[in-house]
Amino acid sequence: MSGNPAVVMRLVASAYSVAEKAGAIVRKVLHSGELGIVEKTGANDLQTLADRLAQQSICASLSKRFPKLTIIGEEDLPAEEIKEDLIENGQAEEILLKTCPAEYSGLKEEELVVWVDPLDGTKEYTEGLLDNVTVLIGIAYGGRAIAGVINQPFYNYQLGAGAELGRTMWGMLGLGAFGFQLREVPGERRVVTTTRSHSNKQVTDCVDAMEPDEVIRVGGAGNKIIQLVEGKASAYVFASPGCKKWDTCAPEAILHAVGGKLTDMRGNAYCYDANVKHMNSAGVLATLRNHQYYVSRVPQSVLQALKSD
Ligand code: AMP
Ligand code: MG
Ligand code: MG
Repeated sequence: MSGNPAVVMRLVASAYSVAEKAGAIVRKVLHSGELGIVEKTGANDLQTLADRLAQQSICASLSKRFPKLTIIGEEDLPAEEIKEDLIENGQAEEILLKTCPAEYSGLKEEELVVWVDPLDGTKEYTEGLLDNVTVLIGIAYGGRAIAGVINQPFYNYQLGAGAELGRTMWGMLGLGAFGFQLREVPGERRVVTTTRSHSNKQVTDCVDAMEPDEVIRVGGAGNKIIQLVEGKASAYVFASPGCKKWDTCAPEAILHAVGGKLTDMRGNAYCYDANVKHMNSAGVLATLRNHQYYVSRVPQSVLQALKSD
């Protein structure tokens, strides 16, 4: 590599360190025992102190170093001075050392949009299903998710005291994805992963229509994409509105970086421009392989019920 790293590589390198810091905040709030739970639209749509602090940390840290970025975070927070100890200045060296794909090497800060889910799987976080929780930072250019970072703050928590908690995965189109071992579900088995806390008849009808060998119900959009790339699930099927752009941007970039696909239930791509509406109204369908099979199985009645984005 010669000269200064490209802007987008510096941004991904910062996002990596910032996501680790956010993960540490998410752990610290849990261990404090004071979750500060607030209901947003209802009992299945929660915000905790960890969501608030992690978003403040991520947004303030990234906009300090990249002031011209557009950053869109999930939580609606009052504008206030952020405490200095929430700011992360680090940049992951391993990312700075990578060569930027040629098509992205000239991108400018002001052309990039960052979608932030400071804590994905909040409901599960409050219920102690800790491995469902992720921190998601997605980077979009020209409407496409081009890079993403996922931190899983409680990875390895089942191993008990002494195990090193947490991990960070990242990926970029044209470069690949790192921080995990890419695996496929063995054989021809169809393992469908879907929501555990936002289900309804339409969601389950659509899962059944896939003719799955197994259905897994877990929390978190980030968590379900991790299942796809680690060979624990073959398709993430959610035939309902509810997921937002900050849930899918980082996971989509990582999945696409390894040849997978994330679309709405019709097989159409979502757009991640700064001015798009936040809701993924036409559901989420994600796979590592065989996307077309799953698209072809979606019942007509489900398609009619789902609005286009
Ligand atoms: P889930 O698979 O239920 O964990 O959902 C994945 C992401 O989408 C999480 O961030 C959820 O909060 C969000 N989500 C899905 N459905 C809904 C809903 N009906 N209301 C609010 N958030 C939702
Ligand atoms: Mg989320
Ligand atoms: Mg969230």
